[in-house]
Amino acid sequence: MSNSDSLQDMVTCMGQPVAGNPTQFMIERAFAAAGLDWRYLTLEVPPENLEDALRGLRAMGFKGGNFTIPHKVAVIQYLDELSEAAELMGAVNCINRVGDKLIGENTDGKGFVQSLRGITSPEGKRVTILGAGGAARAIAVELGLSGVTGITIVNRSPERGEELVTLLNERAKVAAKFAQWEGDYAIEEATDIVINATSIGLGDADARAPLDYNTLTSEMVVADVIFNPPQTIFLTEAGKRGCKTLDGLGMLVNQGVIGFKIWTGVDPDATVMREALEEYLEL
Ligand code: NDP
Repeated sequence: MSNSDSLQDMVTCMGQPVAGNPTQFMIERAFAAAGLDWRYLTLEVPPENLEDALRGLRAMGFKGGNFTIPHKVAVIQYLDELSEAAELMGAVNCINRVGDKLIGENTDGKGFVQSLRGITSPEGKRVTILGAGGAARAIAVELGLSGVTGITIVNRSPERGEELVTLLNERAKVAAKFAQWEGDYAIEEATDIVINATSIGLGDADARAPLDYNTLTSEMVVADVIFNPPQTIFLTEAGKRGCKTLDGLGMLVNQGVIGFKIWTGVDPDATVMREALEEYLEL
């Protein structure tokens, strides 16, 4: 690596969970498969120590890192530059070190879109997104930048939903509207892509997103951000109605693929990464 002479071959994940995580397992497998003697370290950093941790990251010559909850927004103040998407989202989950500069990126939404492209192109599509949290925000902005025609944000709390819709309309230049989530939500007929970007289903295979599932039609692509367990009730119900489905593992693999390329300049083997994730999650 040309830029590795004065730097350690290390990247890091700061935030929670600690004690190893699926991303660490997946990225280290990909380093090995690519013949790179690199390390991906998972480090627990409490919010009050984030500034010191960033100073340490610079001092120890890390090539970059992932930042997760609760640091995705707070880390921005310690960075030198942001990518367009990270600036629009107001959240960073990936840092790249270029010389002395730390550049913030957001690979969550890009990972989703890359995974989606495996079954359909986003251009010209009408999208419904369930949720308005960090994952929904990242996906919605990236889909807006990828040329979707319109986005409906469906959320339980109106404040978060309206805020995201305003961001999409005013900054991401995509037509967006808000729908309040009460009871079983009915998907609009004209929808092409439906995405669950809530935490419903995380660690609970029996959790059911409240939808009128009979409003899903076989022409729709249905995607879930939940990767553990990846087969959610949401996807099972969509599959029963003939929809093409996409699980959250694809998003996780692809955000890893994008981060790997940013840090190392090398294209990793995505199949090795998916297999590593499945092994880690005992699927
Ligand atoms: P946030 O806490 O920021 O947002 C959670 C969202 O889920 C909010 O919109 C919240 O609504 C909604 N929600 C939660 N419970 C319910 C419920 N019972 N009924 C209706 N809405 C509900 O979380 P994130 O956006 O950061 O993460 C969401 C999920 O995405 C997590 O499970 C995470 O693991 C997953 N994820 C997956 C990735 C991948 O690579 N596959 C990457 C990043 C995240 P409200 O605003 O009303 O509270």
